[in-house]
Amino acid sequence: MSFIYKRAIPPLEEILRATSVSPELSAVKKKRDKLVADVISGKSDKFLVIVGPCSADNEDAVCDYVSRLAKAQDELSERLLIVPRVYTNKPRTTGEGYKGMLHQPNPEEAPNILEGIYSIRRTHLRVIAETGLTAADEMLYPDNYVYVEDILSYVAIGARSVENQQHRLVCSGFSVPSGMKNPTSGDLSVMFNAIYAAQSSHTFIYYGHEVETDGNPLAHAIMRGSTNKHGESIPNYHYEDIVRAAELYEARGLANPAIIIDTNHANSGKNYLEQPRIAKEILHSRRYDASVRAMVKGLLIESYIEEGAQKVNGGVYGQSITDGCLSWEQTEKLLFQIADGC
Ligand code: PEP
Ligand code: MN
Repeated sequence: MSFIYKRAIPPLEEILRATSVSPELSAVKKKRDKLVADVISGKSDKFLVIVGPCSADNEDAVCDYVSRLAKAQDELSERLLIVPRVYTNKPRTTGEGYKGMLHQPNPEEAPNILEGIYSIRRTHLRVIAETGLTAADEMLYPDNYVYVEDILSYVAIGARSVENQQHRLVCSGFSVPSGMKNPTSGDLSVMFNAIYAAQSSHTFIYYGHEVETDGNPLAHAIMRGSTNKHGESIPNYHYEDIVRAAELYEARGLANPAIIIDTNHANSGKNYLEQPRIAKEILHSRRYDASVRAMVKGLLIESYIEEGAQKVNGGVYGQSITDGCLSWEQTEKLLFQIADGC
């Protein structure tokens, strides 16, 4: 039992130099960052739709998928702000299975972390260059945020990470919105504690330095349902859940109260086909109650080119190898319905 030091990871500067963001793409990101921030802060009343595959497993399929999203964004830009989900790090409940592009840039080959870092940057850069959209990713490993800080417009903290101090402290230094999920237990106080911590100033060790942050006022909530002690999914997207969460939110006096609702995971009981119904119920709750409308600023939807999911070596182009996803056709229809009902 020991660590086998396979190789040193090259200095950050070397990696960034080899995959640098051009001034043009940097300008796109800056503009998009503001659009997303304005929705979370309430300056814009566009509805945020963070949508894409559970895991970004293949550079070409992801870019193909996002180019379809970009067309929908053009057509629906009056009402929707679409942020592609390009999730390159996957939390695994037992540690087994595909851990994302970082670990396996080719899901059918052995892990190769260095190539994984380059693959992640290439994929995100291609997405921006080819579509003009900047993406959301999950920060699973806080130490790795330095590899994507210059390319993301939105960062999620997963249900299994949200109680972790280092995740919370690193979020406090982001210049983009960070969505903190409720934990798998469903305890909303854990999520609100995470938002409080991320909105506060901290001093800590980061990237080999003692750093100080001044807090991220755009840290906010993502509700994804929970799992009870019998392993059953307990949704938290219903009207009563949102009203209760909004009351807890207001009681904390946090900046920029905002809730994004995840339509898959424990909210759908991992039945991805429920997502359109869940999205429509949330839109109905928003239309029914102005305070719910003001609080619920967007949805997180799992979608890819082909419907459902397959095994890692299933060979179907554009089909998820982690959680089941809506097909592109189902997604496109849903995006138009969301734009109509939000
Ligand atoms: C995901 O977004 O695919 C995910 C793993 O979410 P959660 O952290 O809510 O389980
Ligand atoms: Mn998922």
